[in-house]
Amino acid sequence: MSIFVTRSSMPDLEEFVEEIKPIWKSHYLTNMGPIYKKFQYQLKDYLSVPQLSLFANGHMALELAIQALNLSGEIITTPYTFASTTHAIVRNGITPVFCDIKPDDYTMDPEKIEELITDKTTAILPVHVYGNMCDVEAIDRIAKKYDLKVIYDAAHAFGVTYNGIGVGNFGDASMFSFHATKVFNTIEGGAVTFSDVSFRKRLHYLKNFGIVTEDEVEDVGANAKLDEFRAAMGICNLRHIKQEILKRKAVFEKYMEYFQGIDGLRTIHYRAGMVPNYSYFPLYIEPEVFGTERDTLCQKLNEYDIYARKYFYPATNEFEAYKGKLNHGNTPVSDKVSKNILTLPMFADLPMEAVDRICEIVISMSR
Ligand SMILES: *Cc1c(COP(=O)(O)O)cnc(C)c1O
Repeated sequence: MSIFVTRSSMPDLEEFVEEIKPIWKSHYLTNMGPIYKKFQYQLKDYLSVPQLSLFANGHMALELAIQALNLSGEIITTPYTFASTTHAIVRNGITPVFCDIKPDDYTMDPEKIEELITDKTTAILPVHVYGNMCDVEAIDRIAKKYDLKVIYDAAHAFGVTYNGIGVGNFGDASMFSFHATKVFNTIEGGAVTFSDVSFRKRLHYLKNFGIVTEDEVEDVGANAKLDEFRAAMGICNLRHIKQEILKRKAVFEKYMEYFQGIDGLRTIHYRAGMVPNYSYFPLYIEPEVFGTERDTLCQKLNEYDIYARKYFYPATNEFEAYKGKLNHGNTPVSDKVSKNILTLPMFADLPMEAVDRICEIVISMSR
């Protein structure tokens, strides 16, 4: 049987049907209906954040959060991310300035931020890569010093806490993704968390064409509303999220048992004070030491019907779409990590026998 890198969590069909039944009475399918409101309330509570706004997907959440914060000019960001992060900046007519990452946890290197700040810089947009927390204290210090906004791409970090604080409480805003492949899903969906109440109205209008009342359109908005069916999926999946994360933890620990002490393989180190969500299992392969290159290892797994993912490869500053348009920046660490990283299958229902098999194949490729 094929083993893919992820498998979407789903509630029992009966549970979902129960949640969507009221729609057949109300005929209220979308436009911030009762299920949307209930889900928004529950999620705000689960993430322990003061404000939360739901979106049709994580990408639009991020794109509209950037617009709502009135950013312009340049945003300092990381190339070591999914296409969405960089696209969201560019689609706002803003220039992304690429900052390198730390070699130990692949998040933005705060020591390299200040040299990139110009009089056009308006914000910093770091990513909590693989659900590992950025150096939020250092980034916050820099942002305050230069009066910059901070938006976190927290797409990987659903439910993560740091010193008991929900990850969505850092910076001016954080974006979450509830895509089918993420730790928590609403099929497609996303959210922005923030604390400034005045931000709330603008975000709310932007997801609905900028319409304030029937007669008033105040903003050049988009359509990014989460519908009632997806909100219902969210309510169901949220009921089981604690068990799902515990099951991922067991998979994570099994992988760690196998890989610790294997020369040439580096596993993820979560920041002290964090409660992680075990969203991914990235394995960094040092080819000179391990004896096999990332691509060869990936291919070998494919031969056994196991599909790992080169995630993130290529880094966004290598994209064809940006050739000749964006400055690549000085990002040697990101360049190198993206060539040597492989994320292994990781999901709640991954059988332990499969983890054994994956690990045995990986280890058989070492020198
Ligand atoms: C998934 C993801 C996004 C985009 O979220 P969607 O819900 O798929 O639009 C953005 N950034 C990162 C890092 C992601 O992993």
